[in-house]
Amino acid sequence: MEETLALFGGIPVFDQKIGYGRQSINDADIQAVIDVLQSDFLTCGPKLEEVERKLCRITGAKYAVLISNGTAALHAACYAASIQSGDEVITTPITFAASANCALYCGAKPVFADIDPETYNISPEKIEEKITDRTRAVVAVDFTGQAVELDQIREICQKHHLILIEDGAHSIGTKYNGTPVGSIADLTTFSFHPVKTVTAGEGGAVLTNDEAFYKKLLLFRSHGITRNENWMSGKSEGGWYYEQMELGMNYRMTDIQAALLGSQLDRLETFAKRRREIVRMYDEAFQEMPEIIVQKEIPQSDTVRHLYLLRLNPERLKAGRKEIFDALTAENIGCNVHYIPVYYFPYYQKLGYQKGLCPNAEALYERLITIPLYFGMSDEDVQNVIQAVKKVLNYYRK
Ligand SMILES: *Cc1c(COP(=O)(O)O)cnc(C)c1O
Repeated sequence: MEETLALFGGIPVFDQKIGYGRQSINDADIQAVIDVLQSDFLTCGPKLEEVERKLCRITGAKYAVLISNGTAALHAACYAASIQSGDEVITTPITFAASANCALYCGAKPVFADIDPETYNISPEKIEEKITDRTRAVVAVDFTGQAVELDQIREICQKHHLILIEDGAHSIGTKYNGTPVGSIADLTTFSFHPVKTVTAGEGGAVLTNDEAFYKKLLLFRSHGITRNENWMSGKSEGGWYYEQMELGMNYRMTDIQAALLGSQLDRLETFAKRRREIVRMYDEAFQEMPEIIVQKEIPQSDTVRHLYLLRLNPERLKAGRKEIFDALTAENIGCNVHYIPVYYFPYYQKLGYQKGLCPNAEALYERLITIPLYFGMSDEDVQNVIQAVKKVLNYYRK
């Protein structure tokens, strides 16, 4: 062992901690926000519709509704899909909790279907096994940015009259069989949190091609209130008049956030290109290392990757995930784990979900480490991460 591990007193590969994800803000982004701050509207202004139109242009969806964050977008999508008490909603355990919580918000029960052990996305066959006469919807997550098996899942949904909600929090810019994510499922949600590919600070969106869903989304975003006479129970009583038609929320996005998002969306191609370059460098380095299993890509998905995962091969390593995670952290690499299976959380355990439910997801979780992937990484940063991973895994090699 030539180089000492930082964990045991050596010099870390990075002299300062780097995160696993990070936003990129340029002068145009800043100027877009300043312009709104100097305008007449901080919220409920013209920026929202402008950026919604931009999202429609990028994805090919008919309608886009900007929402305050990705979690609220999932809630709004479930509301639009009329999910309610007594319903079941099938989703993956390998996701951020919001993909399952959105069913709970509507009084429905999340049902977890296991993942494909190679792509890590929800398995269409496992979805079908979980369908009952209470199932109303599937929330399919494009995990790490790779599109789920949309053809198969749509077919299953059509056959069983289920609504397909695609959680695209990771996948803006990704195409499935040449069609952008956002225009394929009944409802698609995005998140614009700063670790995601494009950011609004906080932000989300729901996209759909269905006018009835669109109307429900608009109502739900703003208290269920409308000023549109066509949507009222009767006639408007005058210029001041509005009606609350349903029980909605205040899930509006501000014009400040929308301005930042609009500018970031103009950079999506640039972001996507760089993410692809970094993924290529990682894949080349890691594909030849037997200690690591590289995530499988399905040919239908032209992926803009949000996360890069190392899956450790226990047959080749004498240390577990925790030791390797700690060693990489000591090299100043801000690692993470995506994700702890949702039903492991105490809240879900209290609801009665048991460990053992999704064996592929549970086995994956034990071996996963997320390493840095973001637009601002230099080639040198990428090479340093690769060097650190090699150093740590060589040390723990069996
Ligand atoms: C980030 C994320 C969300 C939630 O988005 P927020 O904007 O943070 O509320 C939902 N689902 C997945 C898969 C995510 O990664």
